[in-house]
Amino acid sequence: MLLQQEREQVVEYGRKMLERGLTVGTFGNLSVYNEKENLFAISPSGTDYFKTAPSDVVVMTPDGEKADGDCKPSSEVDMHRIFYQKRPGIRSVVHTHSRFATTLACLGWPIPPLHYLIAYSGREVPCTPYVQFGTYELAQCVYDTMGENYACLLGNHGLLACGGNISYTMDVAEQIEFCAELYYRTRVAGTPKLLAEHEIEVVLESFQHYRQK
Ligand SMILES: [Zn+2]
Repeated sequence: MLLQQEREQVVEYGRKMLERGLTVGTFGNLSVYNEKENLFAISPSGTDYFKTAPSDVVVMTPDGEKADGDCKPSSEVDMHRIFYQKRPGIRSVVHTHSRFATTLACLGWPIPPLHYLIAYSGREVPCTPYVQFGTYELAQCVYDTMGENYACLLGNHGLLACGGNISYTMDVAEQIEFCAELYYRTRVAGTPKLLAEHEIEVVLESFQHYRQK
């Protein structure tokens, strides 16, 4: 079986995604890229995370060809492979429908630097317009909108996070959900006081080495 280790990570972190309250039911999806093999393991379409076995995980090429596995890959496979094709250093992608990130995505509000943990994404978390789920058009739009950040809101849909490994990428998804909750709550209560450019710059520098791990 190709990419055994990556398949096991997809199963393990799929469960963690649910346990950490980042998605519900069978929604959301995740993948892990093996740079040496130039293949990635992705969660299967519409399967309960607690019933998914490593053998159910699908192995794909960044060009979108299936390399191994009997199941159908996640319907958002294009949103994963575009990052492995085009962005060096990205070795994991996580897509969630976490509550506050999705709330902001439905408001069309990008997240500004209101808390230092925004650095998990970069200076901000941008937001795409609405694009039909499961399309290459959505993948291209998320890729373009994310720019050099590590997270992006998908308009009227959810969140996409990426990173150098699956553990860190899951942290990106979790910390950006935290920032989304703070932004929503502070906007409801008043006007959040944002960090200045020089303040966020210092935090970004200290985050640099975590990302490369
Ligand atoms: Zn989705």
